[in-house]
Formats: sequence, structure tokens, C-alpha cells
Amino acid sequence: MIAYCTHCWREVNSEAEVCPDCEADLTLDQRTYEQKLIGALAHPLPEARVRICWLIGENRIRQAGSDLMRLAADDPDLYVRKAALEGLGALCVSHSTSLLRRISKGENRLLAAAARKSLDVITRELKSCSGKAEQ
Ligand SMILES: [Zn+2]
Repeated sequence: MIAYCTHCWREVNSEAEVCPDCEADLTLDQRTYEQKLIGALAHPLPEARVRICWLIGENRIRQAGSDLMRLAADDPDLYVRKAALEGLGALCVSHSTSLLRRISKGENRLLAAAARKSLDVITRELKSCSGKAEQ
């Protein structure tokens, strides 16, 4: 598993007790894995944020929904926005549909396609939850 120092955000060995870079005591961080992952969405490297968006979707960390919505709307990096959009689909964040709809009509094709895909996933999911088949 990839672990991050929650002080300097560098990658560290998950067994490490002290960050080799900033020497922060990593055993003091009592947050859950979910909380740490959500915190890591603020990682300065876009590649890391992309990976964390994916991890959040894979791990179904539903409480990250609003953070993913924020990244999907505002992140300066296109690929982070795309990964956040995919994460919203993976988490089936029902209150993100208006954001997804807006982005799916936007000019950026990469983001529009990702938003449409997640919107489809969520719409399907919501239908199966309510047990109704709409036309
Ligand atoms: Zn550190």
C-alpha cells in the first residue's frame, strides 16, 4: 500500500514510524485510513491526487463525495478533474448529478465524456435502488 507523510505529503514506506524527509512522527497521526486518504486529496502533485481519487472510488469511501465534487469542479489539473469525475461515479454520489450534468455539457471533451459516464452509472444505480424502470 502507498502511504503518505501527512505533514510533507511525500511518499513513505507504510511501515515507517518517522518520515525520512521531514522527520515527522507518523505514529502520532491517529486518523483512520479513510480520513488520511481524504486528506491526501490536497497532495501538491497532480499524479498523486489522480491516484487518490481512484483509490477513494475503489475503496468506496463515500464520505469523500463532497471533496471529489470540489476537485471535479475546480482542480487546476485536467486529469485530476477527470479522476474525480470517475470517482463520483464509482461512489455513486447522487447529489453530484447536477454538477456532472453541467460538466457533461461543457466544452472539454475529456471531462464531458467522464461526466457522462459517471452520470450514467449513478442514474442506473438510482433506478435500481428505487426499483422503478423509467422510460
Ligand atoms: Zn514528511
